[in-house]
Amino acid sequence: MLERVGRCARLIYFSKNTLALTGAGVSTESGIPDFRSDKSLLWERIHAYRFMPIDAYRDGVDDYIGMFWRYWFPLLMPMIHAQPNINHYFLARLAEASLLSTVVTQNADGLHGKAGSSNVLEIHGSISGGRCFSCKTTCPMDYILDEIQAVRIPPVCAQCGGIVGPDIVFAFERTPDYDKALERAAKTDLLLVMGSSLLVDHVKEIVVGALNNGAHLVIINNQPTPFDDAADVVIHEQLSQVTRTLWETMERYW
Ligand SMILES: [Zn+2]
Repeated sequence: MLERVGRCARLIYFSKNTLALTGAGVSTESGIPDFRSDKSLLWERIHAYRFMPIDAYRDGVDDYIGMFWRYWFPLLMPMIHAQPNINHYFLARLAEASLLSTVVTQNADGLHGKAGSSNVLEIHGSISGGRCFSCKTTCPMDYILDEIQAVRIPPVCAQCGGIVGPDIVFAFERTPDYDKALERAAKTDLLLVMGSSLLVDHVKEIVVGALNNGAHLVIINNQPTPFDDAADVVIHEQLSQVTRTLWETMERYW
């Protein structure tokens, strides 16, 4: 592993515009389960609601959104209280050293921001708040939690009385952050993938965009990905161990 970590460190050091793409694997050690590998009934229910056709959801059937909050709530609390781990801190450190331009994340947990990264694109939304389906106003999470705890479910928008849903994407909507991620991928010269299996089509599009620009590709994930053959460096090991070694290797450059 050391030799591959060394190559990865050199690529980061010599690239001018590095983009990190992170998936569930960066947050599992913060106690947040991987949506895709967790087969519990609770997650199955959340999936059923989350990936329900967007039109059905937006038709504003209060029950749908109410049910979603009920299922989502027990998982939301641990997410809100989760703390970043070495993977998040490492990327914040890279940015601080001007060795990373952007973090594109599939995670909605906000942990990159908590670790100090300010250059984050959350392509699947964020748990930091909710969104009114009528007036589109964003709604702070504290307000939503108060409403849910008072059993006013679904929460109602303080501005217009509309229904407030979670500010995470459903059935993959294109978000402004996703469009920015595609733009930046088309300009990057190094894509550093951490903790993502790159199985989702719109995430693949980001990788293809970077490769079309001639970017180098580094993949650190505990499982193979469809892009392993196109990568300069592939490391299939436990992410935090790789990150620790990479960080130690990078120290000599800082
Ligand atoms: Zn509203």
